[in-house]
Amino acid sequence: MQHVHPDPVLKNQFASDNYAPICPEAMDAILQVNSGYVNAYGNDPWTARACDMLRDFFATDCQIFFVFNGTAANSLALASLCQSYHSIVCHELAHIETDECGAPEFFSNGTKILLTTGNGGKVDPAQVEHLVTRRSDIHYPKPKVLSLTQSTELGTVYTPDELQVLRDCAERHELRLHMDGARFANALASLELSPAELSWKAGVDVLTFGGTKCGMAVGEAVIFFDRELAAEFDYRCKQAGQLASKMRYLSAPWISLLQDGALLRHARHANAMARLLANELQKLPGVEVAHPVEANAVFVRLPQEVIDTLRAEGWYFYTFIGTGEARLMCSWHTSEEDVGQLVAAVRAALPKTG
Ligand SMILES: *Cc1c(COP(=O)(O)O)cnc(C)c1O
Repeated sequence: MQHVHPDPVLKNQFASDNYAPICPEAMDAILQVNSGYVNAYGNDPWTARACDMLRDFFATDCQIFFVFNGTAANSLALASLCQSYHSIVCHELAHIETDECGAPEFFSNGTKILLTTGNGGKVDPAQVEHLVTRRSDIHYPKPKVLSLTQSTELGTVYTPDELQVLRDCAERHELRLHMDGARFANALASLELSPAELSWKAGVDVLTFGGTKCGMAVGEAVIFFDRELAAEFDYRCKQAGQLASKMRYLSAPWISLLQDGALLRHARHANAMARLLANELQKLPGVEVAHPVEANAVFVRLPQEVIDTLRAEGWYFYTFIGTGEARLMCSWHTSEEDVGQLVAAVRAALPKTG
């Protein structure tokens, strides 16, 4: 076998959990299903099994679709909840607003997104109330969906109490609840709640459940807890170029990640690495952790010269997400050694005092 390394493999990377390789369980699954002919387009035994396991996981008879990525999962899910004259309420830092290039508006034929602020990347219920009640006339795009990200873009998690308040608000105003769960596994691991408690029992109508960020090669599951909302979703996926013909390679990794708890194990590990990183960085003078570290992201305020030094040394991280801090993202693959090396690099880059 030929190995191709067109570029040096990145070391020193905390840019995103999707920089990480595929976890062993997901890779095993791909190898295991890689023999013989099976039906295409999802009509294969592994896809059926993955759906059954997800129904077991959520302890309910939900409807499940696998798509290639999170942008499609969110956009198509939202499009299925809205008409073009509706609106979607979300946080101003929500991925659907800032990182999907207008795909939710595009796939819903123009549904408008209405923004709230809120601490820690969490939607402020009072602002939802305001956005939804400030107008009721025909000139205003009718609010139809509340979209929440769990865990959030700032590495925090909505607690059950916070979700309850938002759910009550949504119910009062007949809003559907969409959850962007690109990092749902990290939220589950963080809260130690059951998947049911954190989804349909919390009022979620549609969850986009991320596979990629928790160790798969590709693929997210769109999960409709209200099966009626899934009507004709298969056509939506196909039209959007999101119906995988060799579906077994998207679905099988879900089986192996669910069957022995690997999904939560990896998420718990990523969260633990983030906590360790935050704890260690916090000890350094001039370094300030900006948001509670409740999942696998650490946002830190660093002096600009430290950011410049780290980048010059080849450390990878983003500063354009959130509110300008350095975002340090841990994954299933982040090791204590990786964390230690970054902390040492930050320590060495800090201006010497005294
Ligand atoms: C990564 C991510 C997604 C999915 O992004 P894709 O690149 O389209 O797979 C969706 N929501 C959030 C919050 C994310 O972090």
